[in-house]
Amino acid sequence: MIFIKCPHCHVGLKVDEGKIPLDIASFKCPKCKQLIPISLLSKEEKERDNNSETQVLFCNQQKGKMGYLSVTANEFTPEQTIPLHEGTLTVGRKTTSQLADIGIETTDKAMSRKHIQIEIKKDAKGAYKHFLSDNKSKNHTLYNSKYLKDGEIVVMNNGDEIIIGRTVLHFYE
Ligand SMILES: [Zn+2]
Repeated sequence: MIFIKCPHCHVGLKVDEGKIPLDIASFKCPKCKQLIPISLLSKEEKERDNNSETQVLFCNQQKGKMGYLSVTANEFTPEQTIPLHEGTLTVGRKTTSQLADIGIETTDKAMSRKHIQIEIKKDAKGAYKHFLSDNKSKNHTLYNSKYLKDGEIVVMNNGDEIIIGRTVLHFYE
């Protein structure tokens, strides 16, 4: 956990470094709504100033424990954040037919309509686990720079990269 002060309004902020999305350069102060550069987090304070107001950031994201997919914008695809929910979900290019459970807005034809499958379920300790597999897609799925084999199922971790077609997604818990 990192404690910093907002450089604008000086509110104390408690940041869970493991929950910060990797693809952001700055974040909004929850109090004054001004942007704070991520680089400020490297100047962490080990001691919390108990007299100051402290707000918690990135610890209890509204997106919830089920995690979410962050879609990186490219020439075919606008930036998107897709919340996940419990169950078995197919993910792919959003079209008017053969709908996946989660449709990505894109004109990326290298992405199948049901390209990957994500299964989200609780383990014995009650923590959510996220299982990813390729859904027999035409162009296969790159997971952390390696192609998923037929029938291979991986457990995703925070920040993992998934490339389907020409579109890059990241999984965040
Ligand atoms: Zn502020």
